[in-house]
This record gives sequence, C-alpha cells and structure tokens, in this order.
Amino acid sequence: MRILLLSDIHANLEALEACLAAAPGFDQVANLGDVVGYGASPNEVIERSRSLGNIFVRGNHDKAATGLIDLEDFNPMAAASALWTRNQLTPEHQEWLHALPQGPLPLEGFPEANLVHGSPGDEDIYIVSIGDALVPLLALPTPLTFFGHTHLQGGFFADDNSADGFRPEYRTVGQAESISLQLKQGTRYLINPGSVGQPRDGDWRAAFALFDTEAQVVHFHRIPYNLKAAQDRILSANLPARLATRLAAGR
Ligand code: ZN
Repeated sequence: MRILLLSDIHANLEALEACLAAAPGFDQVANLGDVVGYGASPNEVIERSRSLGNIFVRGNHDKAATGLIDLEDFNPMAAASALWTRNQLTPEHQEWLHALPQGPLPLEGFPEANLVHGSPGDEDIYIVSIGDALVPLLALPTPLTFFGHTHLQGGFFADDNSADGFRPEYRTVGQAESISLQLKQGTRYLINPGSVGQPRDGDWRAAFALFDTEAQVVHFHRIPYNLKAAQDRILSANLPARLATRLAAGR
C-alpha cells in the first residue's frame, strides 16, 4: 500500500494542488491536521481534502477555527487568521472541522503506524529536537509514528545504539525533488512529512511524503507551486501581510 502523507496544509490551495499533481500513485491519504489557518482558501482546501479520503487527525488551527480552543494562546497573527477563518467557513465545513478526531490514531490499513498532529503524548506539543523526541520514541507501542505541527520535514529515530534527528538534504532550491528513506527493522521512527502550505525549514517549496508500506520506504518530496497566487489571495483577503511574505522565505 502507498500512503500519501499530508500535513499543515494551512488553507494554501495552490500548494495542495501542486502536491497532488506531483504525487506519484497512492492508495490512500493520511492528513495530519492544520487543514486551515494562515492561508486564504479554507473552504476550497477542506473540500479538496475531504474528497481525498477520510483519515485525519485534527491540528491546533483546526480547533482554533471552530472555537475548540482559546485564542489567547495564539500569537496575534495566528489569532487574526483564526478569526478570519471562522468567518469564512461554511456551516458544513465548520461542523466537519469541529468533528475531526484527536490523535494519535492508528493508520487505517496499517495499524503498525500511528498518526498525530503534535506529539503522541499531547497533540499540541511541538517535537523539534531529539530531546523532545526521545521519550515518545521509546514509549510508543508502534515503531512508526507520523507527525506534523512543526512544519519541518524530516524526523527522528532510535535504535539500540543511537538516537538522532534527520532532515532530507535536497540539491536545488526551486526544482521538484524527492529523497527516499529506507526504514530499518528494529529502529523506531517519528517522521514528519513537512508542511504542504507553510514550510518553516527555509525551503519555500510545498512538502509532503509518500509511505510505501511493503517496501518500508518513506519518500520525501519538495514541489514548487504558484507562490504568487497564494500570496495574492492572502493580501486581497486583508490577512496580515507577513502571512504572504513568510511563504516566500519558507519561515
Ligand atoms: Zn501547523
């Protein structure tokens, strides 16, 4: 089975469409949350995401957009975009977002892997360093967990001898590229497919991953997309301009 892993789309329709057009064949889609927030196409992105299948865990921005969490914990830019998103969402999409399940959840059809937005212990916690990753890596009942939330493509592993983080190292800054990771028996992994709609690893290209369950390979991808169109939508929606400029910087 080939599973397309999408995370942190953040209402960026142009980035989502580019990823779907570039993705090699897949059997199902696993979406790790933050479907909305920051970007200016929440309804379009929800519609497209729903059409891809039903495996989701919710993100903090999905909760914020439907009033499930207090906006006091959000920075002013995130809070402004959450309020804007609330006002834009159709009642049907509000309801759908509100009902998204809390991770971690087993990956449908491959229960040896788990899906979560933040950390397996807490959906809102960021796993940025090997220090953050170590306890969940060693405590998890399954050897493989896919997570998002940090908008950083890559992940963490632990085996009997060592534990470390890794990031795919691409050769270009603007081309479509892919890097494969062969998973090893006896090693535990936390893997982040990266953010489709708002990468923060200094690379502006949309990020996603594809997991081949039989070959036990994770293919990381970076795809250029119509950045200008996504930025123009943010500016014409009167969302904070920084939400448009940060897309170009990948920060
Ligand atoms: Zn996010």
